[in-house]
Amino acid sequence: MALDSKIPQGPLHDKWSSYKDHCKLVNPANKRKMQIIVVGSGLAGASAAASLGELGYQVKVFCFQDSPRRAHSIAAQGGINAAKNYQNDGDSVYRMFYDTIKGGDYRSREANVYRLAEVSGHVIDQCVAQGVPFAREYGGLLSNRSFGGTQVQRTFYAAGQTGQQLLIGAYQALERQVALGNVWMYARHEMLDIVNIDGKCRGIIVRDLITGELERYSAHAVLLCTGGYSGVFFLSTNALGCNVTAIWKAHKKGAYFGNPCFTQIHPTCIPVAGDHQSKLTMMSESLRNDGRIWVPKKPGEARKANEIPEADRDYYLERRYPAFGNLVPRDVASRAAKERCDAGYGVGSSKQAVYLDYADAINRYGRIECNKLKIQQPTAEEIRHRGMAVVKEKYGNLFDMYKGITGENPYEVPMRIYPAVHYTMGGLWVNYELMSTVKGLYVLGEANFSDNGANRLGANALLQALADGYFVIPYTVGNYLADEISTPVPPVSHPAFEEAEKNVSNHINRLMNIKGAQSVLSFHKKLGKIMWDKCGMSRNAQGLQQAIQDVKQVKQEFWQDLRIPGKINELNPELEKAHRVADFIELAELICVDALHRNESAGGHFREEFQTPDGEAVRNDAQYMHVAAWEYKGDHEWELHKEELKYEEVKASQRSYQ
Ligand SMILES: Cc1cc2nc3c(=O)[nH]c(=O)nc-3n(C[C@H](O)[C@H](O)[C@H](O)COP(=O)(O)OP(=O)(O)OC[C@H]3O[C@@H](n4cnc5c(N)ncnc54)[C@H](O)[C@@H]3O)c2cc1C
Repeated sequence: MALDSKIPQGPLHDKWSSYKDHCKLVNPANKRKMQIIVVGSGLAGASAAASLGELGYQVKVFCFQDSPRRAHSIAAQGGINAAKNYQNDGDSVYRMFYDTIKGGDYRSREANVYRLAEVSGHVIDQCVAQGVPFAREYGGLLSNRSFGGTQVQRTFYAAGQTGQQLLIGAYQALERQVALGNVWMYARHEMLDIVNIDGKCRGIIVRDLITGELERYSAHAVLLCTGGYSGVFFLSTNALGCNVTAIWKAHKKGAYFGNPCFTQIHPTCIPVAGDHQSKLTMMSESLRNDGRIWVPKKPGEARKANEIPEADRDYYLERRYPAFGNLVPRDVASRAAKERCDAGYGVGSSKQAVYLDYADAINRYGRIECNKLKIQQPTAEEIRHRGMAVVKEKYGNLFDMYKGITGENPYEVPMRIYPAVHYTMGGLWVNYELMSTVKGLYVLGEANFSDNGANRLGANALLQALADGYFVIPYTVGNYLADEISTPVPPVSHPAFEEAEKNVSNHINRLMNIKGAQSVLSFHKKLGKIMWDKCGMSRNAQGLQQAIQDVKQVKQEFWQDLRIPGKINELNPELEKAHRVADFIELAELICVDALHRNESAGGHFREEFQTPDGEAVRNDAQYMHVAAWEYKGDHEWELHKEELKYEEVKASQRSYQ
């Protein structure tokens, strides 16, 4: 099937307005007859469901947690971008568009990115109207900070809990619609397949996680808002439940998978501490606003951080990238940290860490406070005390988290950080309308291949999830449903539902009947190690070929030796995990296949064979300026389709942050 991205004609800045002016509409009486399924109630799903409910559609929402409030979106710390230019520091919709295109290493669609920047201001207005408590300046105006890859301050934040506060806003909007009877919420229900009838997605099969019963739901359209798949690496900053199952099942039923190998590694995470760890913790990128990153100048340095004098410190990001310094994009900062550690300059007992230091910021803020208070010749202690109070107000909960996990006080000693898997730019391929290659199946938020190209700029993910849900889907789904008003929702007794449910049931029985000796966790860990070692922060052809073989081996062993305790018709978390890991194993192979096909380095995809002498990524625009959209053809088989990316507004050039 040829890929049609459905980008509207006309100048870039008019495309979205022109789409909205010309898309088909569904009248209010017809909306009330139309049914929509939303899978996922994180920021993308909750905002979409609330908006569609408000418009009058009948909406059913599913999530596997016990409440939408527990979606992974709640973990987001640092902030959400918008081109409001409140700081008067030169920001604009165009600049945000440009930063995002460049940050994504010229591997995203111009039209989508422009729309993201264009609606960003509305997202903030919407959230403020809902009462999201964004940080404010003394005078009451909304405050901003910087994130990587930009030279302006466009990030809105609510202390280090931005995701939580945004989710409470979206959840309230969702619950209002639930109370009005427009939206039905099904918590603790996991989608295990989609149902297609006559080439259109018409429903889903879900498992009630409390009773183990399989259930069928039909609708005119299905929206997958099921988040990212970083869990394929086992250790990541994602919540443990994050998974690929929903989009993987859809992939196996005709939805192409876009750029699966584009994984984001976040530079500021607490380093791995041992073999028994199940999760990594991120320290928000916002900390790079004020924190300075350094390593000792001497390899194998034995002195403690605070004993190393300035002259013996290498602020390597400031040295290598003077224009952006500590605020280079994540892929660049992560690789630079790895390079220093690999070269022997790493710190801490594992030597796989660099310092993130707040001493300068505490001193700087302390002096400003003393000036404000007109304290003449303040002592060093006075300055420190006042500076710490400012840092505490801005980043206090993040500092507390670091202390709780490492036992070290980051106000006293620099934090130790190292890159970790964090976000997936890949996901199901969607056109400008967010529709996948299966008609009537839409994909929103982190689950789609997204607007972020090969590397997401910090604070653009929350924005994308909410932009998709509040501002894009209400128009685009209507454009599709306008042609469906005479089509009744199929009964769930339809043979396609029978067959899909039978397949899910067989799959569950097969998993339960392996009755082997190894736990799901042990397979997940094995898979994660292969992926991190051979398809992680840097990759090469030989390693990827080996990884594909290793993953196949894990798959074989999984289906021969997995042990799931408990029963099918009860709450069984091991069975839930087994489903997810089975899908991660299949996805892992596709990620490696995709990484192997892309003979270039772009953003988060760093192929060792393609780099400059000083370690910067080398793209190959002539051959790889495309979205790789993979069609599932059967076990271990995929066909590659390419969506060529056209840069009409921005000239693709070698990314430079120097
Ligand atoms: C630690 C951390 C901090 C972050 N900080 C920031 C930040 O400061 N700024 C920023 O822009 N981004 C940040 N991000 C990224 C951002 O949080 C996510 O990209 C975003 O929240 C994803 O939202 P979502 O709605 O797409 O998915 P999610 O919030 O992951 O929601 C997924 C939903 O899908 C449901 N679901 C999944 N599978 C199924 C299934 N099979 N059946 C039923 N339901 C299912 C889940 O129950 C859940 O409701 C951060 C990420 C992490 C890990």
